[in-house]
Amino acid sequence: MLPQIKFDLFFMNYNLCLLIITADLDILLFSGLGLYYFNRYLKQRKNYTCIVGVQISPKIDWLELLSVCKEAIKRDISPYLENSSESQPDLGKGAGGDNIKLVDLAAEKAIIETFQNWDLAFTLISEESGVKKFGTSSQKFYVTIDPIDGTTNLMHKIPFYCSSIAISEKPILSDISIGMVIDLFHDVTYFAQKNKGAYCNKKKIFTSNCDSLKDALLGLDVNSNKIEKFFPRIKNFIAKAKHIRHFGANALELCYVADGKTEAFVDMRGKLRTTDVAAGYLILKEAGGIMTDLKNIPLDSKLDPRIKVNFIASGNIRIHKKLLNLVKNYC
Ligand SMILES: [Mg+2]
Repeated sequence: MLPQIKFDLFFMNYNLCLLIITADLDILLFSGLGLYYFNRYLKQRKNYTCIVGVQISPKIDWLELLSVCKEAIKRDISPYLENSSESQPDLGKGAGGDNIKLVDLAAEKAIIETFQNWDLAFTLISEESGVKKFGTSSQKFYVTIDPIDGTTNLMHKIPFYCSSIAISEKPILSDISIGMVIDLFHDVTYFAQKNKGAYCNKKKIFTSNCDSLKDALLGLDVNSNKIEKFFPRIKNFIAKAKHIRHFGANALELCYVADGKTEAFVDMRGKLRTTDVAAGYLILKEAGGIMTDLKNIPLDSKLDPRIKVNFIASGNIRIHKKLLNLVKNYC
């Protein structure tokens, strides 16, 4: 009989499969999601026999990992959705400067715990908690998140809010290699991997070819209490663009440009955080879009909830140039 050895679970650092040898010499093999759920099952039990981890590949299946994050977020925010008519107290200001609600913290915790369950070492860059390091293993990367983008919509039962998760090796926008934005109400997932395209629910997406301002549907964030300073910038824009929309969750609005629902999304308030745009930035680029500042310089900001950006995100270069022209006198 094999000795009764209890291993701490160590196997999710890489894409592993797990060989389990029981006292009766039954041999069980788990991999992928089955392995993840088996991990959770084992954590609830005190006694098991012998576990041997076998490394198959040093790669992380990011789509799978972020899909587990998605399910964890949905599970952990569900109590707050059921009671969203009850007002939630503000829990102070997050690292990005907005008021924190319990639902924001629940979503953030769900993401952190999922990465910890996979035994990953990472630096979190979050709108809520700021910059924090987790784990001790050798593999390190940055996880930039807005746990809930559109919290005000959620609290008012407006079905437009999302979670945004981006992965990079360096804490800068241009280094992001993985991005996922989850439309939590409609259960729609946008996902992109650098140089591998962008997808909506696993279907490849592309930006719009429309370059006519009178036909285009344009997103414009107008949520600002500094209207005197801000208004000259948007006056010309609103006058020339026929159809303007603002839905209230910027990461998801970038994905709407990515899959051609809208032709552009513009934020000239100087208050949008890089944590909000990180995942949407990659999804838009991989779908064929363009994202620059108001002087047509590609965005390459540091990923930090305290750093704010102005930008024009467009479906194609022709409409991008027209939009740059509309704001050039106000940069
Ligand atoms: Mg947020």
